[in-house]
Amino acid sequence: MTSPIMNTYGRYDLSFASGEGAYIVSTDGRRFLDFGTGIAVTSLGHCHPHLVKALQEQAATLWHCSNLYTIPNQDRLAQRLVDNSFADKVFFANSGAEAVEATLKMARKYHDDNGNPERYRIISCDNSFHGRTMATISAGGQEKHLAGFSPIVEGFDHVTFGNLNEMRGAISEKTAAILVEPVQGEGGIIPAPDGYLKVLREIADEFGLLLIFDEVQTGIGRTGKLFAHEWSGVTPDIMSLAKGLGGGFPIGACLATEKAAALTPGSHGSTFGGNPLATAAANAVLDIILEDGFMDNVNQSADKLMKRVKDIGAKHPKVIESVRGAGLLIGMKCVVPNSDLINKLHDLGMLTVPAGDNVARLIPPLNIGDTEIEEAAGMIEKACEELG
Ligand code: PLP
Repeated sequence: MTSPIMNTYGRYDLSFASGEGAYIVSTDGRRFLDFGTGIAVTSLGHCHPHLVKALQEQAATLWHCSNLYTIPNQDRLAQRLVDNSFADKVFFANSGAEAVEATLKMARKYHDDNGNPERYRIISCDNSFHGRTMATISAGGQEKHLAGFSPIVEGFDHVTFGNLNEMRGAISEKTAAILVEPVQGEGGIIPAPDGYLKVLREIADEFGLLLIFDEVQTGIGRTGKLFAHEWSGVTPDIMSLAKGLGGGFPIGACLATEKAAALTPGSHGSTFGGNPLATAAANAVLDIILEDGFMDNVNQSADKLMKRVKDIGAKHPKVIESVRGAGLLIGMKCVVPNSDLINKLHDLGMLTVPAGDNVARLIPPLNIGDTEIEEAAGMIEKACEELG
């Protein structure tokens, strides 16, 4: 029988019925350690009691109301994001691509408002991923995402990630902004080289450009700080968030400084963006992530997991070439096809997800403990033994 689902995903032969903490249970009753978290989404694990309670209470109170009205949960969430970041203003969307789309529109509008409509071009990086809308595939610039969708959205220039000479060389009098991921996620868990973001900040200031960080995958604690750019000591003018922000409930956000926040009534909007349910979920996520000591635990777990996986990689060079990443966003660059490792881990009872450059990604819940780390390490080691 053919599926009525449009054929946009290459799917594993797995479906899930329930989840609890770091574990997810398939419809045929198998229990998996979930180190994929729905691609960096269920950052507090499945069915976290605090999130369940917040969503149940909100579901029994008010699901949705239009952005024509003030939404108290949204105000509260925006204020908390502002209080804990570089930003002064927040726009809420429903996904990562929409959050990035808002950053792009904002950059163009900022220069238009300042009397420079010719400054519309955005420099982004090869091998980046910013979403699947027309503008965000154009920003990503990857042939495999663009094929068949010409003409692409005009106005993106691409440079090699990490190469500052190319970045400088790409700037013209038409450049509006620079858009980068602090760690390329889909591209293969590639952290920006040391000092790269800092120099991008200097370049942006020198040429009057806006600096946009896409933290859809790296934001909300994933790298051991609330936002990955905090490790660099510099801040962007604009930032996109999604994934972990809702802990599994769809929500995206575009944060900006007062100066960059050029979107005005009528120039942008979203029916669902930041609705009462979504912002109740995200506030509940922040209740936990902003607790004292939470990020210390993330960093401790990240150090342990990274060390364990690096040791396993070193023992099995025929399976794992190298291990890299930031915080609890870890990439195992494989020698064997990454799908072999991922499928073997499925057989052993663990979920991981692929990324570019033949990488298998470990993106566990941020609140894992030593037991889950040891269990994961045991399964990765066994998978390597069987594959090697
Ligand atoms: N930006 C980055 C850095 C991402 O990793 C992703 C998704 O993987 C997106 C944007 C797009 O997010 P979404 O799939 O929610 O539209």
